[in-house]
Amino acid sequence: MRVAGSYCSWDNDLGKVRQGWNITPKLPSKLSPRSRTISRPQRRQRLAARSRTVEIDSEVSGLQELSATTGRRLVFLGTGTSTGVPVFGCDCSVCSSADPRNRRLRPSVLMKFPLGNLLIDTTPEMRLQLLREQIRHVHAIAYTHNHADHLFGLDDARLFPKYVGGPVPIYCEPETEASIRSIFHYAFHEAGLSLPAGHLPKMRFESISPGIPFELLGQRILPIRLEHGRFNVLGFRVGDLAYCTDVCRIPASSWPLLEGLDTLILDALRYEPHPTHFNLEQALDVVERLKPRRAFFTHLSHSFDHGPTESTLPPQVALAYDGLALEF
Ligand SMILES: [Zn+2]
Ligand SMILES: [Zn+2]
Ligand SMILES: [Zn+2]
Repeated sequence: MRVAGSYCSWDNDLGKVRQGWNITPKLPSKLSPRSRTISRPQRRQRLAARSRTVEIDSEVSGLQELSATTGRRLVFLGTGTSTGVPVFGCDCSVCSSADPRNRRLRPSVLMKFPLGNLLIDTTPEMRLQLLREQIRHVHAIAYTHNHADHLFGLDDARLFPKYVGGPVPIYCEPETEASIRSIFHYAFHEAGLSLPAGHLPKMRFESISPGIPFELLGQRILPIRLEHGRFNVLGFRVGDLAYCTDVCRIPASSWPLLEGLDTLILDALRYEPHPTHFNLEQALDVVERLKPRRAFFTHLSHSFDHGPTESTLPPQVALAYDGLALEF
């Protein structure tokens, strides 16, 4: 379903602002050419200034802010590559940039539905990301794959059952389940089962497969096979939005599953080619082929200075940044 309105529903950030999110990004003094009229953070700042008096401290209130058409909202919790940006020890111009859009935590999104919140991946910064966005409940987790930058925050999910009343459903492929059972082995010891809620992560695995949709929180979610070098990854399609991170090749069987998209979120690591990720040129080729109404690139390295890079992109394509929210 196509959402009415202009490319990028930046006004939708109002929902987050109304929830009391008051970290106003500091803008660079020199804005990119595209930003000179009115940049997205500028618009967010203005909305924040208008709305800061409204303080609603409740996840339920947040849900009330969901899209009137579909009731769905996506928040980018992190948009950086596996190192995050700034990169430890790097003093390049992006890593030392004052533009908050150049500060990228490890990649993850939260999908907010009327019936609850689905977290895609648990990055090492998951706790900080959820606190930043004032997310009070996560009702389910889905994993794209088992790499450390997408998985290692899982221990902090031990608090989720306390608020949702039972083990957290984990939707993933068997390979990711095996990794979780190995890396977080202490969560599966029998002795731990009797511990009070909050001491250990309590999980309930739901096995998923590419091409076979599953129902969750009132939504139909379609896992899509993506290739990430020698690793297999899942993209997720909900309605006409697809989240496809950590990908360097889309198998032939997956292209039809990505047709008719309104919003494509896609891996674009850097300018140079990479063995396991799309580079910028390849990601633009995918956009050209799929022709979504709008596309956002994620899993971004320190190659990209947000403003200058974005000013070179086609109008329907943007770089995502941490905290960006979309309705879909
Ligand atoms: Zn990754
Ligand atoms: Zn750097
Ligand atoms: Zn990966």
